[in-house]
Amino acid sequence: MAYQPDSTYKFNSEDFVKPFFEMGPIRPPSEGRDHSLLLRLVRNCPWNRCLFCSTYKKEKFGYRSVEEIKADIGVARVLHDEIKSASWKFGLAGKITNELIRVIINGNPEIYRDGEETPLHNLANVANWIASGSRTVFLQDADALIMRTPELLDVIRYIKETFPTVERITSYARAKTCNKKSLEDLKQLHQAGLSRLHVGLESGNDEVLSLTQKGVTREGHIAGGKKVVQSGISLSEYYMPGLGGRNLSQVHAVDSATALSEIDPDFIRVRSLVVREGTSLYETCEQGKLEPLTEDETVDEIALFMENLDCHSYLISDQMSNLLFEVEGQLPDKKEEILESISLYQQKSLMEKLEFRLKRRLQSYVAVHGGLGQNLHQRITDTLDAIQSESPDAEEKTNQSIAALKQGFI
Ligand code: SF4
Repeated sequence: MAYQPDSTYKFNSEDFVKPFFEMGPIRPPSEGRDHSLLLRLVRNCPWNRCLFCSTYKKEKFGYRSVEEIKADIGVARVLHDEIKSASWKFGLAGKITNELIRVIINGNPEIYRDGEETPLHNLANVANWIASGSRTVFLQDADALIMRTPELLDVIRYIKETFPTVERITSYARAKTCNKKSLEDLKQLHQAGLSRLHVGLESGNDEVLSLTQKGVTREGHIAGGKKVVQSGISLSEYYMPGLGGRNLSQVHAVDSATALSEIDPDFIRVRSLVVREGTSLYETCEQGKLEPLTEDETVDEIALFMENLDCHSYLISDQMSNLLFEVEGQLPDKKEEILESISLYQQKSLMEKLEFRLKRRLQSYVAVHGGLGQNLHQRITDTLDAIQSESPDAEEKTNQSIAALKQGFI
């Protein structure tokens, strides 16, 4: 059947046990890029006390039953099959297009009603997942590994049975949870199909971990991380430049580098601190207990971190909070090259740095929001004028504009 502007595609509603499956609020950027199917195994965060994190702040942690999760996987399967069959019906041979999605939305108004966001998010997620080959799955929310091992194994095996195309299954996990699992449990999970865990180290310094209420010690991080590496599960650890503020910046950089060197994970992801209004850390800063670093101080901290890093990880700076995307490459081979790229930034004149910083932050903001509102646009234009004319207030204006842009960062 050829597609017409008023075409519709009606689902076979008997196949749907319910019209949507649950989805949590976030996933790592790499899972977004790979269009992973998002399946929620637990709700929110079992710790929920880190001062710098507001993602689940008002939400209570909860386990989901295996039955509930399997029902969600079933809905995702039906949605997958319906989207594919719609594609074939309209002569697209399995291809997914925006028109096809519109046809599905128009054909099922009882599901895709105004104001009902979850079914639309499900549809977009599954459609993008099909378009990218249905190969990767991300288990939400903040610590799916906390489920009892037999139940988690059951869910992972069910995902593989339901979607034989799946090659990679990944999840966030707390270091404490990794530590609590036995090595045998982790190995079984790996064999069943758990490919990678994303763990927020944030810092390898105990004072910083305690100040920011991470709920894990340096020793706990190292033990948990090493256990994951030993099990064969790929490990991605996150380091947060700036988390120690000005007072602890140096020990934070050195201790994070040495902790990560000891763990030697497959990936290290740099995720620079952004102090957001409304977070507990914002209040900590207001009380003067933590002095946030300037952009240049953060770059200096990353340089110190790099100098002390001695491992075989792939280093990535794919978070929008980072200034230098160049801090990326396979270690140890690329270490000197990365240090050189940091040094190139450090050698710029003040006005060159201001322009570089503003344009980088602008690039990240526009990548997410698609453009600037009128006020922000005017503010950025004024700031660029101030930089170009080397006005005495150029630095202050740049800092204020960047602070405004960062409030829009994820
Ligand atoms: S453990 Fe992770 S998700 Fe939970 S509060 Fe800390 S940073 Fe946020």
